[in-house]
Parts: sequence; C-alpha cells; structure tokens
Amino acid sequence: LNISVEILDDIVQEAVKHTKRTHPKRNIIVDMYDEIIPVMADANLIVQVIVNLMDNAVKYSDEDSDVTVSVRRENAHTVVISVSDHGTGISDEEKEKVFDMFYTGGSRSSDSRRSLGLGLALCRSIITSHGGTISVSDNIPNGTVVSFTLPIGEVDLNE
Ligand code: ATP
Ligand code: MG
Repeated sequence: LNISVEILDDIVQEAVKHTKRTHPKRNIIVDMYDEIIPVMADANLIVQVIVNLMDNAVKYSDEDSDVTVSVRRENAHTVVISVSDHGTGISDEEKEKVFDMFYTGGSRSSDSRRSLGLGLALCRSIITSHGGTISVSDNIPNGTVVSFTLPIGEVDLNE
C-alpha cells in the first residue's frame, strides 16, 4: 500500500477513461460537483476498484443503459464514491455474499467467461485496507449501486 494525498477527481477521471476505452459504446455519467477533494489513497488501487465496479455495472446491464459514477462528501472526514447501473440488480440475500471470493451468484451476464467472482472481493480488501467500507444497495427503479468510502486527506502546506 502506497498511500498519499491524492485528488479524487484525477482518480475518477482515470478510471472513467479506462472504462471508455474498453466499452466505447457505453454512456458514462460522472456526477461530481466538488472537484478538488483530497483523499488519503493509493491512487492506482482506487482506480482499480472503480474500474472493477464500472466493469460490473457494464457487464450486468443493457448496453443502451447509463452507468453513473458519483462522488459526494459524507462529512468532514469521509467521501463516498458510488457506481450505479440500471441492470439486473442484486437481491437482498446476495448483497453481502457478492463480496465473497469466487461468488458469482445467479446473475447472468453477456460475458460469462470473465466471471471469476473475484472483483468485489478484491475491491473490499482494497477499501478495507484504506480504512473505508464498501456495500451494495438498490438503484431506483432498477439496478445496483455499489458505494465505498475513503478518508478525506489533509493538505499539508509545509510539505
Ligand atoms: P470478476 O469480477 O472476477 O471478473 P464477477 O464480476 O462475477 O467476476 P464480482 O465482481 O466479484 O465477480 O461480482 C460477484 C457477483 O456479484 C457477480 O457474479 C454478479 O452475480 C454480482 N454482481 C456484481 N456487480 C453487479 C451489478 N452491478 N449488477 C448485478 N449483479 C452484480
Ligand atoms: Mg466483477
């Protein structure tokens, strides 16, 4: 883990750029109005987390539906990053299980070759090691929201 103060917008934009390259036809919405939130993070790992979540969002939804990445401050110390889709959704019984290694549940995706069931387990271990949490909730009216937290960084002016 190589944690330093990073600008969250840079991390999100990097992840979005990657997803646009791998899924050029997808409409991706970035919903973030505070652009200079400093976070304490290993930037490469958090890019991996967001790419993984966007990969799932794309994989488990129709190709004409949007995928949204949103950022909001939860309080003075914590920021919440969410990736949401309008896809198949995750049932209440599966909302915790999806974080188990090799759990692929009953979801059908268009690309079953790439379903090892490791993506969310990896995301959780990365977020936990940053002192954050990650969880699944429902999107309204349909689909999934996966949200995780990161600690907001303190900018040291003497650095
Ligand atoms: P991998 O990420 O290793 O390629 P995977 O996508 O199947 O494979 P995870 O990312 O860990 O594995 O997700 C676990 C399971 O959770 C998936 O197989 C799927 O059933 C469900 N899931 C994850 N994200 C979504 C989503 N956005 N919408 C619906 N189901 C999802
Ligand atoms: Mg996955």
